[in-house]
Amino acid sequence: MNKIPVAILGATGSVGQRFIEMLANHPYFEIVALTGSERSAGKPYGQACRWVLSGSVPPVVRDLVIQPTSTEIPGKVAFSALPAAVAREWEPKLAAAGYAVCSNASALRQTTGVPLLIPEINYDHLEMIPLQHSELGWKGLAVTSPNCTTNGIAMTLKPLDDAFGVEAVFASTMQAISGAGFPGLASMDIQDNVIPLISGEEEKIQTEANLLLGKMKDGRRVNAQIQISAHANRVAVFDGHTIALSVKFRNKPSVEDAIRVLENFRGPTEVQQMPTAPERPILVSREPDRPQPRRDRDAGNGMSVTVGRIRPCNLFDLRMVTVVHNTVRGAAGGSILNAELLYARGLLEG
Ligand code: NAP
Repeated sequence: MNKIPVAILGATGSVGQRFIEMLANHPYFEIVALTGSERSAGKPYGQACRWVLSGSVPPVVRDLVIQPTSTEIPGKVAFSALPAAVAREWEPKLAAAGYAVCSNASALRQTTGVPLLIPEINYDHLEMIPLQHSELGWKGLAVTSPNCTTNGIAMTLKPLDDAFGVEAVFASTMQAISGAGFPGLASMDIQDNVIPLISGEEEKIQTEANLLLGKMKDGRRVNAQIQISAHANRVAVFDGHTIALSVKFRNKPSVEDAIRVLENFRGPTEVQQMPTAPERPILVSREPDRPQPRRDRDAGNGMSVTVGRIRPCNLFDLRMVTVVHNTVRGAAGGSILNAELLYARGLLEG
């Protein structure tokens, strides 16, 4: 099989490195280009990148020379791990020029016709892509992945919303330091500490969860109307975001009903068959002190969300805790799954 050539934009960062790790031996995609800032453009990847994941830089990219981001880079798919401001400039230009942009950045998440996508929960949102051609005039296309924390929240809520109707959510997060990019926070700030501010994060959670749980009508998304109050905190964990949730339902389920619905969730069969899809997108832990980021973030190769501590709530109906791997399911892995869905739908042809 001829693999589809892909570029990784912002390849040296926290998410860029995950893209490289997950795409180095991918059955559909072959890395042909890497981009970076002026700091690293012109240097071989192995020299410019301070590799922070396990092992060392995969041989397939070690000698690839980093390029500036442009509409001349080789590749059919552009996986974007660009900072938001840089993404805002380049992602529309790349989509207009004919690339399929699969982005982790927030730049296009609310743009008309651009799906905010988690294939297991809202793959029907691909129906809005024709608007990118008719209203934005793009030759290519763009799909976006949600904010990493929202990813875990929306995956947990989706089966519960379908079964019982979610009305309101209180979410308090404990977010890993890799979510702040590399090199991230100074150790003097984060060691022995909790920082009760992640700029813009609470607003993203409140907005994006309603986009993800929106329903399609006549080729356009009608956003959900769940009331969400989020508290975002940075904690001294390397990878894996933990979210404590209290949820109010239209039809209040028992604890066992909620567990059953979450345990039975598999997502569409088409998505289950994709190379990066985990066997089970949601795992339920019945152990009293789980999930925990160190023990649960790698479930399903980092692509499964683990939900536990499901119990009654004195303010709303149920409380629960979710752990999501922020740079795998919450970033690179989520975008790769999006690209696999585009591939399965024939949207990467031509
Ligand atoms: P990061 O570690 O700070 O990495 C940013 C990368 O962007 C670096 O590789 C940097 O390259 C590169 N860059 C800067 N300007 C560029 C330019 N003009 N052209 C090409 N590359 C350029 O950030 P990150 O955590 O990986 O986040 C990347 C994006 O993903 C952000 O938009 C973030 O919000 C989003 N995101 C992150 C997470 C997470 O858990 N970390 C989760 C979901 C979404 P140099 O090294 O060459 O300077």
